[in-house]
Amino acid sequence: MADDNCIFCKIAAGTIPSKKVYEDDDFYAFHDINPAAPVHVLVIPRKHIETLSACTPGDAGLVGKMMVLVPRIAAQLGVDYSGGDTGYRTVINVGPGGGQEVYHLHAHILAGPRPWSRMG
Ligand code: 5GP
Ligand code: ZN
Repeated sequence: MADDNCIFCKIAAGTIPSKKVYEDDDFYAFHDINPAAPVHVLVIPRKHIETLSACTPGDAGLVGKMMVLVPRIAAQLGVDYSGGDTGYRTVINVGPGGGQEVYHLHAHILAGPRPWSRMG
């Protein structure tokens, strides 16, 4: 399930430290080490899937759960959409053309006052 060479597998396993935001049996969320916005959190499945394009129909349930988890974590962070000017951005970079740097599927949650340094 875990890839020995994958930094995000190691973060999910706790062998590389991170600032944890949320965890359950299937997912782990933590603050980005190089935040692009005042709030920048990454949500990952514990299962090592390299990228969104590597997902199979069998991963649909897991990916669906991940997307439903995003607003729950946003709410925990105090940035969920609740009318007015509130809300956040969620991004999944796919491959070099999409700016993906870490090849373990992850959703970014970005929020807070602009300007943002990137991904804005
Ligand atoms: P990608 O470009 O692959 O969509 O995003 C990877 C993100 O992971 C980047 O925003 C980067 O700052 C973050 N990142 C890379 N290595 C680490 C790490 O060791 N710890 C944490 N917390 N974030 C990391
Ligand atoms: Zn991994």
